[in-house]
Amino acid sequence: MKTTPFFRRIAGLTRRSFLNLAAVSVATSAATRLLGQTSERKSPPTDGKLRIIVFGAHPDDCEYSAGGTAAKWAALGHHVKFVSCTNGDIGHWGMAGGRLAQRRAAEVRKCAAILGNQVEVLDIHDGELMVTMENRRTICRLIREWQADIVISHRPNDYHPDHRYTGILVMDAAYMVTVPHFCPDVPHLTKNPVFLFSNDEFNRPNPFTPDVVVDIDDVIEKKLAAIEALESQFYEGGCNGGPHLVPDPKDAVAVAKRRKAVREEFLKTPYYSPAETAGRFRGLLAQHYGKARANKIQFAEAFEICEYGRKPDQDELKRLFPFFEA
Ligand SMILES: [Zn+2]
Repeated sequence: MKTTPFFRRIAGLTRRSFLNLAAVSVATSAATRLLGQTSERKSPPTDGKLRIIVFGAHPDDCEYSAGGTAAKWAALGHHVKFVSCTNGDIGHWGMAGGRLAQRRAAEVRKCAAILGNQVEVLDIHDGELMVTMENRRTICRLIREWQADIVISHRPNDYHPDHRYTGILVMDAAYMVTVPHFCPDVPHLTKNPVFLFSNDEFNRPNPFTPDVVVDIDDVIEKKLAAIEALESQFYEGGCNGGPHLVPDPKDAVAVAKRRKAVREEFLKTPYYSPAETAGRFRGLLAQHYGKARANKIQFAEAFEICEYGRKPDQDELKRLFPFFEA
């Protein structure tokens, strides 16, 4: 029997979890309205500082891929915004729906307080992001409203469909943000931003090849604090975790042990760990920082230039990443 996506989703639920989901979906609308009512859609002030907007598929991807570099930009007074293109409402082994979406929005707001960025979560179901004209317009508007100098997203080759489609939607907005009669309700940008991809592990059709690697040693504690704040995803293990990961909250020793394990596991994650990134791209670190300093760098984040945005020369890269010193 053919079923609509809604009924396919409901068919897998018990009556109790369906009622739970139905009740919290009302709360989701309230959460989304609340998000929309904050200053998050305002443009940053015109103060000569850089404006950076990072798109991730889920409420943890921006923090995971660019949290350290964002903290460095923010510390210098530059304006950074993280956008999650879905609300993350299936990203947990034990809970789903509006209650999870609200929890994950609260987690990224906590990260934003740590890292110094603005944050917005789009109310699109996790696992259901599609490349539509509506979504292309939304991404285009967000980039224009932020008057971005730099836009960062996933590459379009990635294991998760939401990551792939975030990459495509952002690539589709590159250049179109400068076209006056596309999406004319928000003024177009007169200069195409620099579009960058964040680090990943995928090799086909081509591996991630960075153009910029940023030393984040001085902000690694902030990045780790953000990872801890993303409790549903790391401490509890996200959709592939389970109750075995979560100790009794009253057992302080077990809680401390689990917290320590979360940090250690993150720093050991192949391809994504800032420690592995520093090791893998030490040659490029040496070009940015000189060999002597590069050899001492422990933690880094890496970015690749997307050909569809403005192509910065080395001088512009130094202006956009004002961190490179020997
Ligand atoms: Zn994700």
